[in-house]
Amino acid sequence: MFKRPRGTRDFLADEMSKRRTAEQILRATFESFGYKEIGTPTFENLDLVTAKSGEDIVEHLYCFKDKGGRDIALRPELTAPVMRLYVNELQRTPKPVKLYYFGNCFRYERPQSGRYREFWQAGIELIGTDRAEGEAEVIAVAFDVLKNLGLKDFELHIGHIGILRKILEESSVPENEQNSILNTIDKGDGEELEGLLHRLGVMEEDREKLLKILELRGQEKEVLPGAYRILEGSKALEELKRFEMILDLLKVFDVEFTVNLGIARGLDYYTGMVFEIYANRLGAEKQICGGGTYSLVETFGGEDTPSCGFAFGFDRLLLALELEKKGVQVECKTRFFVVPTDQKLLKDAMKISVIVRKIGPCEIDLMGRKLKKAMAYASNHEIPFVFIVGEEELRRGMVILKNMGTGEQREVEIARLTMDR
Ligand code: AMP
Repeated sequence: MFKRPRGTRDFLADEMSKRRTAEQILRATFESFGYKEIGTPTFENLDLVTAKSGEDIVEHLYCFKDKGGRDIALRPELTAPVMRLYVNELQRTPKPVKLYYFGNCFRYERPQSGRYREFWQAGIELIGTDRAEGEAEVIAVAFDVLKNLGLKDFELHIGHIGILRKILEESSVPENEQNSILNTIDKGDGEELEGLLHRLGVMEEDREKLLKILELRGQEKEVLPGAYRILEGSKALEELKRFEMILDLLKVFDVEFTVNLGIARGLDYYTGMVFEIYANRLGAEKQICGGGTYSLVETFGGEDTPSCGFAFGFDRLLLALELEKKGVQVECKTRFFVVPTDQKLLKDAMKISVIVRKIGPCEIDLMGRKLKKAMAYASNHEIPFVFIVGEEELRRGMVILKNMGTGEQREVEIARLTMDR
């Protein structure tokens, strides 16, 4: 017996069908806002991946030297490839550029429920605008995906890294040190954070401000007045006003959210609004979506261009739906089944299946089974209609159509089959 590689999965037909149905809902939602699908290679040059995520990412990558001695990595996510594609092909395109992707990603991680070595991400990137309505739209797209999938038990948390960066800027913390502070915030270790702020010489007053801001979490009405008070007289106030504008626009989209100024996302390229969505029932790996406003185009050799986007963990989305006992509805795709009453009518039955396939997906018995067994197969597979091809009916140009749901059967004229639709 051969085993699958660790952290990978096989998908049987039912599972695959559910995945495709959910995928369709994601695509339709992205397209309903005007985002267009793009595709990029499964593997990229290693330096593209490290340019975005730093050298530390290598231990989480599937990477290798190809036969030409080039360093290659299987993609761990899709924002870097999309940015590369944008810089190579789309910089001159009128703005904004609205792209979406759906693809498999690979990370060398310790597998557990909701964490795999091959998994799928679906996401959008809005490139070329830094207006609040763009940022609000990106969040609204993510929210609509969940509404359209029917997921109920989730929380959308929105924060703003620009506010945190401005507080640190006021304390003259250079950008690279801001990044390590944001990383530490993301890890959630309060003691380590306080130690680091001390070591980097962040002034007492700014340290206080930062720590208080990080604790703000709740409904907008409860949290924003406090934030205004804490940031009084600070440069970060401008960022807070901008944050409030985004939240205000989200109400137009009927998006329900929690303000959480403690979100740091732990990645250096985020500059402004950030958000995360958690499916509460998933336990440790409950984050199903993450995103925000970032600056990456320059990293890949293009002109500085504001961007905003998110990535859904598609596998976690499906797990979350299953846990709500909703799953994704699948029904048998085959609509028709054709069975001859006698093997000598096989060719006639096949001919009828060719005609019926023009109306909808159609199977024919391939096992030489007798009528009763063939009907049992159709019934087990929940195929809704069966054409029974009998000698006497054929002579009159007719075939029997049985509705498997009601048990009712009638004769239909073969010549009119495709006309009767
Ligand atoms: P990230 O690119 O790390 O921000 O991840 C975006 C989303 O992908 C996360 O919110 C997760 O839902 C999902 N994700 C990340 N890593 C994995 C993994 N190893 N297995 C399954 N889903 C993952």
